[in-house]
Amino acid sequence: MSKHQKTTGQQLSDKLTYEPLNGWKTIQTGEKDEMYRFCDHYKTFLNIGKTEREAILYTIERAEENGFVSLEALMLTDKILKPGDKVYTVNREKGIMFVVIGKQDMTQGIHLVGAHMDTPRIDLKQNPIYEDSGIALLKTHYYGGIKKYQWTALPLALHGLVIKKDGTKIQVVIGEDDKDPVFCITDLLPHLAQNQMQKKMTEGVTGEGLNVLFGSIGYQDEKVKEKVKLNILNLLHEKYGIIEQDFVSAELQIVPAFKARDVGFDASMVGGYGQDDRVCSYAAIEAVLAVEAPEKTAVCLLVDKEEVGSMGNTGMQSRFFENQLAEIYARTIDKPYNDLMLRRILNASKCLSADVSAALDPTYPDVHDKRNAPFINKGVVITKYTGARGKAGASDANAEFVGEIRALFEREKIVWQTGELGKVDQGGGGTIAQFVANLNMEVVDCGVPLLSMHSPFEVAAKLDIYMTYKAYKSFYMA
Ligand code: MN
Ligand code: MN
Repeated sequence: MSKHQKTTGQQLSDKLTYEPLNGWKTIQTGEKDEMYRFCDHYKTFLNIGKTEREAILYTIERAEENGFVSLEALMLTDKILKPGDKVYTVNREKGIMFVVIGKQDMTQGIHLVGAHMDTPRIDLKQNPIYEDSGIALLKTHYYGGIKKYQWTALPLALHGLVIKKDGTKIQVVIGEDDKDPVFCITDLLPHLAQNQMQKKMTEGVTGEGLNVLFGSIGYQDEKVKEKVKLNILNLLHEKYGIIEQDFVSAELQIVPAFKARDVGFDASMVGGYGQDDRVCSYAAIEAVLAVEAPEKTAVCLLVDKEEVGSMGNTGMQSRFFENQLAEIYARTIDKPYNDLMLRRILNASKCLSADVSAALDPTYPDVHDKRNAPFINKGVVITKYTGARGKAGASDANAEFVGEIRALFEREKIVWQTGELGKVDQGGGGTIAQFVANLNMEVVDCGVPLLSMHSPFEVAAKLDIYMTYKAYKSFYMA
């Protein structure tokens, strides 16, 4: 027997055992360049879309460049939608739905990829500006699950909008241009941090302690009490025409001021803010833009508020998805629409809940069961269930549907792995899957494994990002 020939035991092992492999083993020549190019565009997306609204504005441009027509424009006409037609519809600048009409009637089911565009961050309170000890600061209320200490002593940018009393919308982005000033949350010097360092990490930096450094020059008038605050208000008024009360009707977010970068000497990873879940959002957008005349109607849905429970009229629990789907379906048929049709569509439909998972971090291996943990470079992750403490709160995907997706990925030669969110009883989390499941659709979580999830600088591997894009595209074309 030659030494290249496998023994019967090796052959049997190849046939019977399962171990997800590092994706680089199977990458073809040329594919690496394509992957890196894909991720260059992805980094641009991360840099120009640091809030859900900015990211949605980008997707509207992409939709229009690619021949998608807005549903609102369509509703002014009596056009009947035909297979291959492309429609998009926006929810309050915070959500969007792309639809490519399929050859089959939608009551035979649609293929949905759903991701979220909101990211953990620090929001300004509605009355944020105050002065203390000759310094102007901003009060904040953090959004989503953050480790507060990670947000101190970092360059931060201010993004968002202010609605004035007359309804005027003022867009604000400060800290992204190299000439802009940035902001920061100060931290205590180690010399005087004896008490702070004794505290639990959850208490070392408090929520009410996340105050943003905003200015330090006083308005020169002895009769004025809070000179620095007045000077800042005066500067804001000169630049944006706003007054202090305008902050009440504002949505302003504090985000890291730095740009997404390649990570590693081999540049194999992307580091940047907001990758949960803009990495899956980006893969889903690019996938739906690449779809032409699918069998099943292809829908990409990007929602807001996942990080706080998918609440509100821009979250997955809103009726937006159903309402817009009904509007679109009514325009694909030449008979009167009734609600039963929508119920049939939902019953027959399938969804990939496109969200990130926690990759095993070799510095913190103890929080994972490494036989069931996702690893970077092992491809797109299928997560059958999330939840915590005995799968509580999980939408546990049906084995039949997981089987279908697994077979699809194998057929399409997509590098994929299975992965759960950490060790049993270590913690846990959820995604939009449970709310999609409430509509009686088949749904499974499927996305990119991340390191340092929810930190200001999350890391994803380029191979996994690209494979996730290919996975979503194959689902649309299946
Ligand atoms: Mn997420
Ligand atoms: Mn998250």
